[in-house]
Amino acid sequence: MTPRKMYVDGKWVDARSGKTREIINPFDQEVIARVPEGDRADARAAVAAARRAFDGGPWPRMTGSERGGHLRRLARLIRRDREELAELETRDTGKTVEESRWDMDGIADIFDYYAGLADKESGEVIASPFPRTTSLAVREPVGVCGQISPWNYPLLQASWKMAPALAAGCAIVMKPSEITPLTTLKVTELAAEAGIPAGVVNTVLGPGATVGAELAESHDVDLISFTGGVETGRKIIQAAAGNVKKIALELGGKNPHIVFGDADVDMAVDYALNGVFFHAGQICSAGARLMVQEDIHDRFVDALLSRMQRIRLGGGFEEGTEMGPLISAEHLEKVERYAAIAREEGARLRLGGKRPDDPALRKGFFFLPTLFTDCTDDMRIVREEVFGPIVTVEKFSGEVEAVDRANNTDYGLAAGFWTRNPDRIHRVSRALRFGTVWVNDFNVYFAQAPWGGYKRSGMGRELGRAGYEEYTEIKHIYQNHDPRPVNWFGATGDEAHDGG
Ligand code: NAD
Repeated sequence: MTPRKMYVDGKWVDARSGKTREIINPFDQEVIARVPEGDRADARAAVAAARRAFDGGPWPRMTGSERGGHLRRLARLIRRDREELAELETRDTGKTVEESRWDMDGIADIFDYYAGLADKESGEVIASPFPRTTSLAVREPVGVCGQISPWNYPLLQASWKMAPALAAGCAIVMKPSEITPLTTLKVTELAAEAGIPAGVVNTVLGPGATVGAELAESHDVDLISFTGGVETGRKIIQAAAGNVKKIALELGGKNPHIVFGDADVDMAVDYALNGVFFHAGQICSAGARLMVQEDIHDRFVDALLSRMQRIRLGGGFEEGTEMGPLISAEHLEKVERYAAIAREEGARLRLGGKRPDDPALRKGFFFLPTLFTDCTDDMRIVREEVFGPIVTVEKFSGEVEAVDRANNTDYGLAAGFWTRNPDRIHRVSRALRFGTVWVNDFNVYFAQAPWGGYKRSGMGRELGRAGYEEYTEIKHIYQNHDPRPVNWFGATGDEAHDGG
């Protein structure tokens, strides 16, 4: 079994303070592990190890194809241990084991994709304006990277950071969410088994306010990559100012999912359900804000309601479970508060809005699939990220109105729309101000395509080539093959520079 410890400089270690934390299964509150609870001193030791590995170790100096070989081995090990990883993720997050298996396949693909990219970066020859010179732009690893991930997709989010950073030749200090560290520890172990040298992958555990903040503040960290909420993102920006480190932020979203009157309604309902109830709505790109054109609104809502009533709640390992619990008691209370706010604001509750009565679910942090209709743009339930199984429906009459209203949000992570009109597809997909726009689909992401937000949903990109480039610096190398006198300073007579 993977040691329940932190991994620093190639060794499994306890917190220097000796403190530990219990990890809880949100389905039944069973304690599934006890892990070290690190603090700033542990984070500093990990940064120092990464610094040594980057400044003097072999990893950044290997060829891209050598690094790619290690990452390919890691992808194979993740596939080998897929079942163990999926079970760990389900026990740690409550999501169904089917979902966790699907996550693990995607994670192995991410490492394979970046293994493939590691030897593709050949730089660029620049057309120099000066004769007898060579001008090259080359990419180099950015250095030591602090990486902070959230609890909703613990290993998936971590892999979006680890794989491109390692492919580029960086050394990393990963800090998973303090409540969901288990799969990240397992992959840290697999990275060592894949032959990645000591000090290149370090994993520290502990609270964001100390361990995370130390990574963001450290002058020995060259880049901080963070996925989490907007408020924490703001703190990271401030903390990073000290040494002006590079920042990549993947923050929250409130993502409009628009259904035009000419759409295939049953198909749109099917995807709307997936868009919002996957992992009980705890997805940054959840389509929690449905906007439906008035001529199909009632039919759409009826179809949505009848399918929502059949969603089966349960344990992640139980046959037939479609939706698991929320991550924690605290988060359940937040989602409950939002349901109350929606009612106070005048939204019409059509289903759910509370915890389930089923005694079998009593110990879990469950909330019923919830539908509010008659919603308007100014309601908090429409504007703010709930991160739970609550979907709101707004009615609209025309295309321009739909786009304007969809864009009327502080966030800009993702949006989707359904139509059969090819002209509208082009117009609307360009007019929506979001980092991803799905047309006749929802919540699709894969290794090859960039992912990230406009506006308050963040800065920088993960996945795809853009995700790799985040972890590189561009260096310009300029060579003069035949230097001739310039004679600008201090020359005399004929040699003097004439200023021309
Ligand atoms: P969070 O912001 O509370 O925590 C995220 C991580 O940051 C955790 O590891 C936490 O320990 C750490 N952290 C907390 N305070 C910190 C500080 N002061 N300095 C440094 N690190 C700190 O978020 P969460 O509740 O774990 O995750 C949910 C949020 O993540 C949602 O808002 C969701 O939208 C967002 N998210 C975004 C994406 C995306 O791709 N855009 C993906 C997944 C989740």
